[in-house]
This record gives sequence, structure tokens and C-alpha cells, in this order.
Amino acid sequence: MQNFEPSEEQNMMREAIRKLVQAQCPAHKVREWDRDGVFPEDVYQAMVEAGYIAMVVPSAYGGMGSPMSDCAILYEEIARPSVDFATRVALQAWGSMILADFAAEDLCREVLPRVIQGQAKLSFSLTEPGSGSDAASLTTSARREGGDWLLRGQKLFSSGAHAPDNMMIVAARTDAQGDRHQGISLFLVPNDLPGITIKRLDVVGRRILGLTEVFFDDVRIPGRYLIGEEGQGWTYVGRHLERERITLAANYLGSAGSALEEAMAYAQERRQFGRPISQFQAIAHSLADMATELEAGRWMTAVAAWRYDQGLPCRKEASMAKLFVSEMLQRVTATGMQILGGHGYTTDYSVQRHWRDGRNATIGGGTSQIQRQLIARELGL
Ligand SMILES: Cc1cc2nc3c(=O)[nH]c(=O)nc-3n(C[C@H](O)[C@H](O)[C@H](O)COP(=O)(O)OP(=O)(O)OC[C@H]3O[C@@H](n4cnc5c(N)ncnc54)[C@H](O)[C@@H]3O)c2cc1C
Repeated sequence: MQNFEPSEEQNMMREAIRKLVQAQCPAHKVREWDRDGVFPEDVYQAMVEAGYIAMVVPSAYGGMGSPMSDCAILYEEIARPSVDFATRVALQAWGSMILADFAAEDLCREVLPRVIQGQAKLSFSLTEPGSGSDAASLTTSARREGGDWLLRGQKLFSSGAHAPDNMMIVAARTDAQGDRHQGISLFLVPNDLPGITIKRLDVVGRRILGLTEVFFDDVRIPGRYLIGEEGQGWTYVGRHLERERITLAANYLGSAGSALEEAMAYAQERRQFGRPISQFQAIAHSLADMATELEAGRWMTAVAAWRYDQGLPCRKEASMAKLFVSEMLQRVTATGMQILGGHGYTTDYSVQRHWRDGRNATIGGGTSQIQRQLIARELGL
């Protein structure tokens, strides 16, 4: 029987991350970042200096290439103040894995050390106005011109694409004739190249990292920025889906944990009818349900991460963890708001932000419907 209890080292690591995050992300600051739509670059740099970005970058290029079980702790802890902030770190993990696994050696050596040092950031642009769940129907195109590529089209819902020193990993069609999956290639695209226009979208949550739409008007991309082989982009993206889903589940655990903590504290403090509201069975049972769901989600994520680290098949477990934890996050944050009553509806408390940010959890990174479809397929249906 496998023991999923965290090791002493993992507990110490969790403690250290939590301390840094608590010091860097006090609630009033997170409220301001959310209100003003500002990403705290200084806090990100503090994470860089603490080595947390290095943790998620493969060791061949100066990172630590930490196992998924350790990274899951990192993702959970940094998502406690804001799952949106934590997405910035998650994007470095996905991006650097794709580069390290498939891009040319020179390109990795050029980019990944800068990612580790916080001098460059990675984001991911797959979704388009006409292609979401059916991502392979994308129409943004790239055609060769001399040794370069000319990129044309539009991406939608690109998280953090506008950030300073950001490089997008863009999926584009390089062959419109053959199999639609075979005709997709990946490119590394610095966001300040001529011909790129990036607009922020007005969104209900996830306002810190920010959601953008990106327009490419014959953007000239140096040939060396093609990632790996032409026509292999779909395969490359598919290789890291399990990792992406486990990462997302771990992120959502952090946000749900914070919502539960705030609701617990409030329920023990707030008095009505002469006693703390936590003494009403209806409230206590709601908190018990929240804690139970969180625990279940934590174990599901730990199992998926462990299987990933062992090199065992984990497609089903990763989708199950993403599905369950994303839906759990919505139940936990909605119940948390209910427990805070009218105060939960004000921005004085964080639970409303976890609720708003968490509303995306069942949409981004493959919707709940798509996760169920994948799980059903794994079940042989
Ligand atoms: C906050 C946020 C951040 C994001 N960040 C990024 C990013 O950084 N990079 C990026 O490329 N994309 C990003 N996305 C896009 C995200 O991945 C897509 O929104 C998601 O894949 C769904 O696509 P869609 O919005 O076009 O919905 P659609 O695919 O149009 O789906 C609409 C509805 O139909 C359902 N549906 C679709 N197909 C099926 C089916 N076969 N069976 C059953 N139901 C189905 C869906 O589940 C959904 O409920 C982000 C989105 C959000 C909201």
C-alpha cells in the first residue's frame, strides 16, 4: 500500500512557501491587485529568488525539475492568497516543459535560464474565437517566408500574455490541407514583436494576471522560434495535459483551503441569537462538508501526482482530480459566501474573490464536460 502522507521535507517545504506567501501577499494587497487589475511583479521576483520558479523548470537547463508531488505543494500554497497569481507560476511549468522536451537545444539555452531568473515569462495561446474545446479547429496560421515565419490570426483568453518580457507559446496552423491535428505547429513568440496587438478583456474574476485577446498581423517570427518539428504541435500539447490538470487541481486546493479558513474563522467569531453561528448545526455541517470535500480533493490530487512521478498512466486520475477539485472549489466558495452572509458579498473579505476566480475552474484547462468525456473514454465508454 502506497503511503501518501507528506514527508518531513515536504512539510518543511510547505511551511517555508506558506511563510513567504503570507509575508508577500497580505489580504489588503491582494484586494488592491484584484481591484486595480495589477500583477505584483515584485512578489513574483521574490518567488524567483526563493527558487520556486526553478522548481518547475527541468534540471537540464538550470532548474530543479522537482517531482510533481513537490510541485503540487508549491501550487497549492501559492494559490492560497490568489489562484490567479499562482497561474503565472503554473504557466512557467507548462511552457518550460514543452520547450525542454521538444524545442531545439539552443532555444532552450536561450530562454529557460531567463525564465528561472524571472527575466522572461511564458504564456500559452491555444484558444481562439472559433476554437475552444475543439482546439484542433484553430485557424491562426503561420507560413514560411525565407528563413522566417509569418503569423496571422487571433487568439482569445490568453492568460497573462501582455506581461512585460512575456513570450507566448502559440499554436498555429502550418498545413491547411492534411489531417487537422498534423497541421498544427508551436511557436515561441515574444509579445513585443511588430504586428502584435494585445487587449485586456473585462472579466468577472482572474483580474490579477489578466485575460487577453491577441491579434497577429503578419508577425515575422525567426525560424529558430519554431518549437520542435513542424506539424507536431498537437502532439506536443497533448503530452503535457496530465501535468496541466494536476497542476490546476493543486492550485484550486489552495484557493478552496483559504475560503474554508475564512469561513471557519468568521463562523466562530460572528454571533447571532446569542452564540457564535458555528454552534448552529446547519453552519457546522456546512463547514464539515467543505473540509471533507477539500480532503477528498487533496488525496485525489496526491494520487494523480504520485502516479505521474512514477511514470504510471494517469490520464484518468489527472482528469478526475481536475474535475472534482474544480467543482469542489465552486461549492466550497459558494458555501463560504453563504456562511459570511452579507459580509461575504463585500470585498472586505476574500471569499468573494475566491468564488469569482474559482468560477473559471470548471471552464479553463478543459471544461468539466470535456473532463467527463475523457474519463468516460478511459472507462472504455
Ligand atoms: C480565466 C480563463 C483563462 C484561460 N486561459 C487560457 C490560456 O492561457 N490559454 C488558452 O489557450 N486558453 C485559455 N482559456 C480558454 C479555455 O481553455 C477555454 O475557455 C475552454 O477550453 C473552453 O472553450 P470555450 O470557452 O470556447 O467554450 P466552448 O468550447 O465553446 O464550450 C461552450 C460549452 O459547450 C460545452 N461543450 C463543448 N464541446 C462539448 C462536447 N463535446 N461535449 C459536451 N459539452 C461540450 C463546454 O463544456 C461549455 O460548457 C482560458 C479561459 C478562461 C475563462
